[in-house]
Amino acid sequence: MAHKKITMEHDKKIALVAHDNKKRDLVEWAKYNRDLLAHHKIYATGTTGGILEQELGFKITKLQSGPLGGDQQIGAKIADSEIDFLIFFWDPLEPQPHDPDVKALLRMAVVWNIPIACNRSTADFMISSPLMDSDYERLVPDYEGYRTRKLGEDK
Ligand code: PGA
Repeated sequence: MAHKKITMEHDKKIALVAHDNKKRDLVEWAKYNRDLLAHHKIYATGTTGGILEQELGFKITKLQSGPLGGDQQIGAKIADSEIDFLIFFWDPLEPQPHDPDVKALLRMAVVWNIPIACNRSTADFMISSPLMDSDYERLVPDYEGYRTRKLGEDK
């Protein structure tokens, strides 16, 4: 499949999301990396965003709480190139009422080839990458062939 390039600018559009049992982990991680995060544009699901805003002391764009549609809002922003980086500490030991939304969000991240970290060590490696501080040409499959695909005749 052919690819298109989407430029991720120096200041990235980062979404931060954590399930309840992982919020403390995310807050510790974000506080440790506060200065690195501060010059990016940060989005978060509602509850995660409220806690982070208090702890980090800078403005975060807060969406709905995850189970109330926040994960879907982030997925839609990924599809619209309004978010290009996802830190998502989901809980592997607890069923979630919005499991389909969690899966859909992870799927959107893969469809649009954005970096995703689902645990702290991956987030550490990502945030310390030299690519964080430069423009980055992200390759995205050219979905034009899919959009213009031939559909079968009605029977
Ligand atoms: P929350 O949502 O930040 O509003 O708790 C997180 C999630 O479950 O996606």
